[in-house]
Amino acid sequence: MNINSIILFFVLFQFNLVFANNFQDKSETSALPDQVVDLTIFHTNDIHSHMHAPKSDEFHLGGLARLSTLLKSLREQSPLAITLDAGDWSEGTWYYNIDAGQNMLRILNQIGYDTVVVGNHDYLSGPDLLLGTVKNARVNFKVLAANLDFANYTNAGEFQQSILPYVILEKQGIKIGVIGLTQNGYEYAGYFKPVVVTSPLKEAIKQARALRSKVDVLILLSHNHFILNEQIARLTPGIDAVISGHTHKKISKAVMVWNISGKKVPVVETEAWGKFIGELHFKVDLQNKKVAYESYQLHPVVPTLKEDPVISQMIAEEDQKLKQLAGMDTSQIIGWSEIPLGSHDSREAGLCDLLVKSLQKTTQSEAAIELVSLTGVDLPAGPITVMDAHNVMPHLYNFETKKEWTIKLWKASGRDLGLITKIAYLPNILPLKETGFFLF
Ligand SMILES: [Zn+2]
Repeated sequence: MNINSIILFFVLFQFNLVFANNFQDKSETSALPDQVVDLTIFHTNDIHSHMHAPKSDEFHLGGLARLSTLLKSLREQSPLAITLDAGDWSEGTWYYNIDAGQNMLRILNQIGYDTVVVGNHDYLSGPDLLLGTVKNARVNFKVLAANLDFANYTNAGEFQQSILPYVILEKQGIKIGVIGLTQNGYEYAGYFKPVVVTSPLKEAIKQARALRSKVDVLILLSHNHFILNEQIARLTPGIDAVISGHTHKKISKAVMVWNISGKKVPVVETEAWGKFIGELHFKVDLQNKKVAYESYQLHPVVPTLKEDPVISQMIAEEDQKLKQLAGMDTSQIIGWSEIPLGSHDSREAGLCDLLVKSLQKTTQSEAAIELVSLTGVDLPAGPITVMDAHNVMPHLYNFETKKEWTIKLWKASGRDLGLITKIAYLPNILPLKETGFFLF
């Protein structure tokens, strides 16, 4: 190496240093790829305490121990991710009667959820019981519901400490705001008294305006009808997504809605009962404060997934508690059906026929009426267990009297029956389109 090549080497070395320094400086001041991060939102809705896969699903999807395994493997591919549930996590199967949904919150906590919203089935037993459920479950995440009026509720202070309007999740320095909107259907209002559920749209706009400048990403977690959630997605400024629950709608491809802020916002929902996990991807440009939708995918919780042993153990403990509560073996076979028993709103619906005939026979009345949409699971052909029979009509347990559904008996006049059939079959007069009375 002569002197010239030494000089050249030195010059090149210097150039490299300068180049490297320039590169470093540049990366700190402008939006290079490392300032655009990938964010994944995993979500579920309407699990309704289906800890095991519902027997009626033809593909045997679901089961929270399998859902946990699937989430673990999905999270491995998404280092920056949050997990949300869009409400109705509790009431819906017999497991709710054990402790009013504490068991579900604890399982979701173990699975690693970051926050959940309150659904109508989570507040059906009133605000005091919901408050007790959230407090006693002692979970790491926050339970949300923003659109509430506490003016007539004496326990408001305590309630508002435990159930929050929104939460800001911080993950790897990124702030993700999640606003919770609960269900405000008039048919559920009486159950939450004296707390009043207010307009989810007005509350979303109010909360979003206050939160937008404080976070990098802003999500609405809304347990409202899918159509209403699309409107909320359109009219709430500054939001990046609406994670929906309540309608049990299976959204395989994200519904993109033009938001008034001038960008398209995805609205997504995963059917129900823990059968699917939704996976929503965003590119978050931290420098320019831009959040761009990337993709959406729905993952079925298939029966070939291994069960997460910790979750399996938690569910086995709930099974034991349930046997004690019921005072019987809930897995005992008590009947057999040659045909699948479904609850579709039709004269041919085998399950509805069986239900109203059972009600009629038990009460020795001349006619019986059952609200089809409030029945629980359908049953496949084959053996029927105590648990199946219960979960066909699992609704409303009174934790004070320890009694469930009340069968009401009355001397119905022709006018009464006429009114009921009008309500059932003229959905345009009253907004009862999906109520589906079944009359025998
Ligand atoms: Zn609901």
